Amino acid sequence: MALLQIQEPGGKPARPKHRLAVGIDLGTTNSLVSARCGLKVESLPDETGECLLPSIVHYADGGQVYVGKRAKAMALVDPANTIVSAKRMLGKSLSELRTLDHYMPYEFDATRDDTAPSIMTRAGSKDPISVSAEILKVLKARAEETLNGRLEGAVITVPAYFNDAQRQQTKDAAEEAGLNVLRLLNEPTAAAVAYGLDTADQGNIVVFDLGGGTFDVSVLSLTRGVFEVLATGGDTNLGGDDFDRLFAEWLKHQAGADGLSEGEIMQCANEIKHRLSEEEAVEFTLASQAMTVTREQFAALTSEPLERAMRICRRSLRDAKLTNEEIDNIVLVGGSTRMPAVRVAVAEFFGREPLTSIDPDKVVAVGAGIQADVLIGNKSENDFLLLDVTPLSLGIETMGELVEKIIPRNTTIPVSRAQEFTTFKDGQTAMALHVMQGERESVADCRSLARFTLRGIPAMVAGAAKIRVTFQVDADGLLSVSAEETLTGAKAEIQVKPSYGLEADTIKSMLQESQEHAREDMELRSLREAKVDAIQLIDAIAGAVVADPELLEEGEEARINEAVAKLIAVLDEGSSAQLTKLTQSLNEVSGDFAARRMDAHIGRALQGERIDGV
Ligand code: ADP
Ligand code: MG
Repeated sequence: MALLQIQEPGGKPARPKHRLAVGIDLGTTNSLVSARCGLKVESLPDETGECLLPSIVHYADGGQVYVGKRAKAMALVDPANTIVSAKRMLGKSLSELRTLDHYMPYEFDATRDDTAPSIMTRAGSKDPISVSAEILKVLKARAEETLNGRLEGAVITVPAYFNDAQRQQTKDAAEEAGLNVLRLLNEPTAAAVAYGLDTADQGNIVVFDLGGGTFDVSVLSLTRGVFEVLATGGDTNLGGDDFDRLFAEWLKHQAGADGLSEGEIMQCANEIKHRLSEEEAVEFTLASQAMTVTREQFAALTSEPLERAMRICRRSLRDAKLTNEEIDNIVLVGGSTRMPAVRVAVAEFFGREPLTSIDPDKVVAVGAGIQADVLIGNKSENDFLLLDVTPLSLGIETMGELVEKIIPRNTTIPVSRAQEFTTFKDGQTAMALHVMQGERESVADCRSLARFTLRGIPAMVAGAAKIRVTFQVDADGLLSVSAEETLTGAKAEIQVKPSYGLEADTIKSMLQESQEHAREDMELRSLREAKVDAIQLIDAIAGAVVADPELLEEGEEARINEAVAKLIAVLDEGSSAQLTKLTQSLNEVSGDFAARRMDAHIGRALQGERIDGV
């Protein structure tokens, strides 16, 4: 996601102190933390060199809390006090949890409300927020130790389909862990950011995330530097576990079940599955039998979940109203996409090779780390500095090719400002809106961001309609401009990323030019405004003379025509003082005629009313 990345105005900034921020992938099965280390953003390993932290929390006998591998070891021994897949429970009510066909060997706290499920453990009642917080605390401690300093912020990823409650509870967990949440980021967006896809102009991206127990597919579209989620699909019960289970059944059948526990067979299946991602065939012994299994055999045994994933993929594309050929990039995420059969199926489906150069376990965390580094204010790779302010003023074109500023530069975002505009001509029913960026007064000297049209304005005399134009910049720097006619509620809207295509040098020179031309610009504005006033008056009078010729007195039309001619003569070449003076003369010469018209119209209106009243 391209953010408001700009260089500090006024030359090269002094290199700011590097501030510590991390990206965290809080996964269902595994979690990771990543941060900038020198030039690259990398996942941070624990003291054994392992980056993946199993998302499992065990509340032990002596009051200790174990997270990760040690907790995982306890999952089979003491399941009631070992919480796995807490992420599945975030933001859900107890009744919703009961409908998940996911085995949960827990005793839920009966004193809690249905909306706030909590698990009874020997360490007390633990809700999914505090379980998640335990995982986050470990990652925070790992990062602070590795980076040798206190963290100032974190970006945490969530599935694109997470609702408000699920997002809020993720935030709550982070706060409980003592993290300052800079932003929650959608997992597929993070994956796309990790591959630098956000720097492209536009494109359609599919993020294919096959994890341990869940499958998520997201179709993103990138336009003008903004990611939009076009469709999400998936299955919360489809993942690596299904491949393990199917393969374990076969193993049991082959070796005979005797003497082996369910857990042992599952473990064996999982190990062989992993080895088959590297080797064509694996030799192993199970229940003292020497056996061999090939990649092909494994693929045939486990084809069902993969076919299901591809069907979901097809449906999501249909939801996004895109065809396979319209997809520019496919990003693979999740440990299960290491399986060669998955890569082949994806490549065949889209007719192109998916992106795989970043470790599929780490890609989400890496993208979050990149985002965190930018958000905390460190210079990103391209020497840009993030500022949470509008780097240049945002405004709208008004008559006379002038720019009316609505949000001045250096306003902190998010921000919302509104201003009222009106029509220029009688009977005008549409208004062309031109969104501008820059400090100069003239449209020609500013950047054009977008154009849109508001239609459905009721026909009225010039200046009577009220059009409320609202500029809103959200925390991501995305600008929404809406125009609403206040009487009928007719509305039009557009979104644009003002930072898109804006380079540090451009901002600098735009600011410099506006200073150099400040005086000239002021004169230009008053000249153009005078010209607009003049044209408007000439138009109005021409219309009036045609509409009510009988109200003109002897010689009046000639005097008016003379004043009009004088004004027209200076329209293009005259100074603003000349224009103002001659506009005023025309106003004076035509003043009586205008007053007579006003009286006549009021009289007519009253008469009409009286007749109606009879
Ligand atoms: P989650 O997003 O649910 O936390 P992960 O992305 O960490 O899950 O994926 C975990 C899954 O990936 C497990 O089922 C694991 O067996 C599988 N996996 C990891 N490495 C490999 C590999 N080399 N070959 C096949 N499957 C793998
Ligand atoms: Mg994941």
